[in-house]
This record gives sequence, structure tokens and C-alpha cells, in this order.
Amino acid sequence: MLFDYDLFVIGGGSGGVRAARVAASETGVRVGLAEEDRYGGTCVIRGCVPKKLMVYASDVAHFLPEAEGYGWTFAEAKFDWTVFHQKLTQELDRLEAVYRGLLERAGVHTFDARAKILEAHTVELSTGQCITAETILIAVGGTPTLPKIIGIEHAITSNEMFNFKLLPVSILIVGGGYIASEFAGIMNGLGVKTTQYYRGDQILRGFDNEARDLVAGDMVKRGIDLRCGLNLEKIEKTPKGLLVTDTKGKTQVFDAVMYATGRSANTKNLIDPSVGVSLGAKGEIVVDEYSQATVPSIYALGDVTDRVNLTPVAIHEAMAFIATVFRGEPTAVDHTLIPTAIFTQPEMGAIGLSEEKARLQGPIEVYVANFQAMRQFFAGSDDKSLLKLVVCANSRKVLGCHIVVPHAGEMIQLLGIAIKMGATKEDFDRTMAVHPTIAEELVTMREPTRKT
Ligand code: NDP
Repeated sequence: MLFDYDLFVIGGGSGGVRAARVAASETGVRVGLAEEDRYGGTCVIRGCVPKKLMVYASDVAHFLPEAEGYGWTFAEAKFDWTVFHQKLTQELDRLEAVYRGLLERAGVHTFDARAKILEAHTVELSTGQCITAETILIAVGGTPTLPKIIGIEHAITSNEMFNFKLLPVSILIVGGGYIASEFAGIMNGLGVKTTQYYRGDQILRGFDNEARDLVAGDMVKRGIDLRCGLNLEKIEKTPKGLLVTDTKGKTQVFDAVMYATGRSANTKNLIDPSVGVSLGAKGEIVVDEYSQATVPSIYALGDVTDRVNLTPVAIHEAMAFIATVFRGEPTAVDHTLIPTAIFTQPEMGAIGLSEEKARLQGPIEVYVANFQAMRQFFAGSDDKSLLKLVVCANSRKVLGCHIVVPHAGEMIQLLGIAIKMGATKEDFDRTMAVHPTIAEELVTMREPTRKT
């Protein structure tokens, strides 16, 4: 049977664009791609990229006092959101054009339309056009989920955080995950009076406790009103702003309320049930280790599969998909030991097991350097840095590394290579230190801080 395309991709985000581009330009197959919104997807348009630019803008608030500690003086420092926002908008337009250009140059046919899978090899576009393809790849990502509380329609999500015409004077952020904690830091640094409610004991559940505590403590020190063990009952719109009632019955007014309480797969009305693609409990597409769905001609990758919801993971899954389907090299994706950065202020990096999880697996040694780095100490700041290695007492392998330091994301990327290669504590010890740096502590921690 002759299909219109060898591959039809639904979704023009990081994973979908990578798969379409590489399939067309490197394997020579005929590729079509449908995107209903902007090219670049969550990461580029309403996620990692604009978020990181906002972190940079916000972080300046912390560098200014440090600069004074080095002898600089400034006239009154002011942040102008409208200037920043205009530049941000231009940058996102530029990046979207880059993504479109990548597809065009690779020879991918793009359709600015919503797609629905009608049959195992057939997609219907919102324009009414039907397209057939030998393989269909779903890369539609996820969307924020909001709990059903009274007045939730007054809340915004991370999608809207990049669209403020003017910054709010005060904001309540609900949630304690990556998105809530990163935005709390951003808003606070930009001068917005920031409150964060998290229903559990400590934000960033699942990460190493010592690192979470340090991040949360510093966030409070920098001015965020972080309240753990608290959630929202309802939100009411009043002339003074959004009146929220918390689970302890207290009320407070905020200019904006942002929810970051998780995301779910974008599979609503995406696939006709007669096609037979299995979905998981949260609507995610069930796939095997090769990203193949329960219908053989259909594959899915990225957040829509709810495996590890990170941009680089989706890109990795795309490359493995191309190898499997178009190069004849079945390639399973390895989802273990993924380095990650949380762009809170202070920034945190992590890979592997937390001390708490590692302890459940057997005897461990924990090496901790918790200290004031030279740069901050000299500036008169009491910010601390944390570098922590969790080591298996038997194999000596480094099972986990958790860091709270400036540029933790950059550092954990490089540490990730050694740890992914199976480095032992002795490999770290054999490595010469780079002096004077914060990272040198990683190779100079001789005695374990704890053995269990
Ligand atoms: P997360 O799943 O990380 O966190 C959700 C948070 O909301 C948790 O603190 C959770 O609490 C809380 N929560 C869930 N339901 C409710 C509720 N009904 N009421 C109150 N609180 C609730 O989701 P995010 O939205 O923060 O992030 C989504 C994904 O985006 C992440 O999985 C991450 O992979 C990705 N991401 C990655 C970034 C990075 O790499 N730097 C940056 C931003 C996002 P509890 O802990 O109790 O369950």
C-alpha cells in the first residue's frame, strides 16, 4: 500500500521536531508534521527557554548586593518588565522561526493544524484533510493540570507566566515541584511579593532531603514566604484582588495565583478509540522500551508518554526512535541516571539516588561538603554551597550526587558523564582538583560524613 508519507509526526515540540528533521534529512524518508500551535513546543515557547531567561533576569537581584561586597556602588537599580518582556517576545519569535526553518530545510512538509488519529495509518487534520502514513509518531507533550477547587478559573498556570503585560505586585504560587519552586524564585527576584503554598512537609519531593532543605531555607532567606503543609480551599475574585482561603481557614488577597500542580498528557480527542491505542491512568500513551504504542504503526515519545518529562529525554527518545524504525537498529532508551537541574535560586543539580533512597538499597557512605564558597564569603553573604556524593559501600560506585551551588546545572551535566560511566569514589579521589573552585570539593572529600 502506498502511503502519503513514510512518517507523520503530530507535535512540533523538541521531540517531534528532532524526529521529523533527522528522519527527513538523514534517512531520506518522506515526512509530514502537524502542529496546532507554535513551533518549538512547551520547552521553547512556554517552558525551559523563557523560564531560563527569566531566571537570568531575576538572578541579577542577587548579584547586585554581592557586587557591593566587592566595592561596586550603583545608583538605584530598577527592573523594567516591559523592556525585558519585549525582548523575550522577540527572542521566542526568532526561535520559533528557527524551528520552522529546520523543518523546511530538512524537507519536512508542515501543516499548521490540529491532527487526530482516525485509523492505524490515517490522520485527519482540522482543515479536513486526511493523510496516510506508514508510521505515525505522537509527540504532543503535556498540559498543566489544575485541581477542582472553587474559583480555580481565576488561577493561571506556567503557560501564562510569560504573558504579563505588567508584573503583579503580589503572587501566590501553589505547588512544590520544579515549576512552582523555580517560578517562586523568579518572581521574588523580579520584585514581586511572593508566597508559595506546598501541601507536603518540604518542597521538591523526591530529591535529596539535605539539598531540598538548603534550597528551601535560602528561598525563605531571599524573601519568599514559603508555607509548607498548606493548600488552597477556594479563590474568590474581589475588587481588591484574588481572595484566597487556605486549608487552615485563613484568608489573604493576592494580585495573581499561579498553580503548578503537575502536568498531564495531551491526549484528549487525539486518537479515535477504535484505533486501539492503550492509554495509562493519567491519559499517557503506553509505549514499550522502543517508544512503540500498542498499535504497531504508532509510536509516541516525550511528555505524552509520561516517562521522564524532560526536554533532553524527549530528544534522546526521538533519536532512538529514528534508529529503531528507519535505520534498522532497535534502540531502547536508557532512562537511568539522568542528570537534572532545578533552576531555583539557589540552583540545584542532581543525578542518581538520594541519600534516603540509596540507604534502602544497602550500605552506603555519604560524603558532604557544606560550606561558604570564597566568592560569597568575601562579599559578606552567608549563602552556603552543598556538594554531596552518595557512595555504595560495597561496589564503591557513586550512586548519587546532589549539589546546591551557583551554576549547578552546568556542573551536574559534567558530573553526569562520570557517574553514568560508573565512576567510583576512588575515581573521584584520583582526579586532580582544580583550584580555587567550588567543584574541587568533589575530589577532596576524604572521610565519609556518614556511614549507614
Ligand atoms: P511536579 O509533578 O514536579 O510537581 C507538582 C507539585 O504540585 C507537587 O509539589 C505536588 O505535591 C503538587 N500538587 C499536586 N496536586 C496538587 C493539588 N491538588 N493541590 C496542591 N498541590 C498539588 O510538577 P510540575 O508542574 O512542577 O512540573 C511538571 C514537570 O515539568 C516535571 O515533572 C518536570 O519533569 C518538568 N520540569 C522540569 C524542569 C527542569 O528540568 N528544570 C523545569 C520545569 C518543569 P506532592 O509533592 O505532594 O505530590
